[in-house]
Amino acid sequence: KSLELLNIQHELETNSVTYPKAFRFAIDTARGATIRDVDGNYYIDWVAGIAVLNVGHNNPYVQQTVREQLDHYWHWMSEIPSEARIRFLRNLHSILPGDLRGKAKVIFGVTGADACETAIALARWVTKKPVIMAFEGAYHGIHQGIVAITAKTELQSYAGVPLINVARVPYPYPYRCPLPAKDSEDCGNAVLNYIDHLLSDPYTGIGEVGAILVEPIQGEGGYIVPPRNFLRGLREIADKHGILLIADEVQTGVGRTGRWWAVEHFGVTPDVMCISKAIGGGIPMSVVAYRAEYDEKLPEMFHLGTYRSNPLALAAGAAVIEYIQSRNLLNRTLQLGDYARRTFEDIAERYSIIGDVRGIGFMIGVELVKNKSTKEPGAELASEVRRRLFERGVLMHTCGHFGNVMRFMAPLVLTKRHLDEGTRIFEDVIRELSR
Ligand code: PMP
Repeated sequence: KSLELLNIQHELETNSVTYPKAFRFAIDTARGATIRDVDGNYYIDWVAGIAVLNVGHNNPYVQQTVREQLDHYWHWMSEIPSEARIRFLRNLHSILPGDLRGKAKVIFGVTGADACETAIALARWVTKKPVIMAFEGAYHGIHQGIVAITAKTELQSYAGVPLINVARVPYPYPYRCPLPAKDSEDCGNAVLNYIDHLLSDPYTGIGEVGAILVEPIQGEGGYIVPPRNFLRGLREIADKHGILLIADEVQTGVGRTGRWWAVEHFGVTPDVMCISKAIGGGIPMSVVAYRAEYDEKLPEMFHLGTYRSNPLALAAGAAVIEYIQSRNLLNRTLQLGDYARRTFEDIAERYSIIGDVRGIGFMIGVELVKNKSTKEPGAELASEVRRRLFERGVLMHTCGHFGNVMRFMAPLVLTKRHLDEGTRIFEDVIRELSR
């Protein structure tokens, strides 16, 4: 039945779809961290709708809250207050990091790309400086504006002439440091020194930089955890040069790393934060949070959009935050995530095709290589691992500069049993491919 639906889809929909080529099924129902397809097969879900379903599929508390909102209304004009809106705003303000907590202002969008574009527009209004500094391996979306900042050049060329002026700099990728470095910390320092040089020397030709846009842990680029000192160093550089630090927490946020926000692991508070994916519990919504003093620089109608802050998404969002709080999911994610990372590290020691394991909480990357000593990326290996895992009922997606990183991004409610079962199957597949 899955194949039948896939065939009909193929006839009626664009050929450029990618996910149905990787995961050959049609979904019937999903609960927690499991999915049942239309043929009755069950899968352990380590994708979570790409880091969206942090509180799990069909979370009963979210479902109940959305149902109640359905009884009231589900769309009119955005920005008009409702109880759902105020409940969400209060909840969100209570979990923002550092001195943004309770003090920031927020503005709504619909998608992650929307949030990042809005953050950039905001930085330009505030600083009147046009250039955005962004990183190799960055992913911030593919709208026509933001795609210039996403580092996948093939996506840029499909989109046409980049609309945003970008100063591209290396991301400190400890396993493959782009600059000469002795170790991970040194890699962070090398990148920081380079960025500081670019911003200090008037003849580097990069133009006037208004903001640095950074993923505190790189997502699509390969689940790369930067060295400990890196974000703090960026914070200092931004302050020194009068530049806004924008953290893209679209993938890392809302508990994914065992803290509400990944920046908290590094003791850094950004000036602007992009939030999306998990914040709506699966109903599209994004938010940009920013320092309140910027508000007076923004004109009316600074950001528009019919669907911003849909009441169902607001209700879901309020419930997501309450659920994570009431179940103490952050601590659980830290602990179980640590256990998961150690399990992947143990597996890595036994096989030559795993070059690196890294991550925090439920954001773990396992980098596949053809050979541990040459580190030659194993992109075909990764798609083969994904295919074999799928056949055995584990859904795991890839990412990375070379498409060779397996990423663990399960719902935070994943049971330990499904974690152990999944890692056992993962090891079986790695063993087969190591022969
Ligand atoms: N920023 C980051 C860090 C992301 O991971 C993504 C999506 N993977 C986006 C932005 C874009 O979000 P969306 O697909 O909702 O536009």
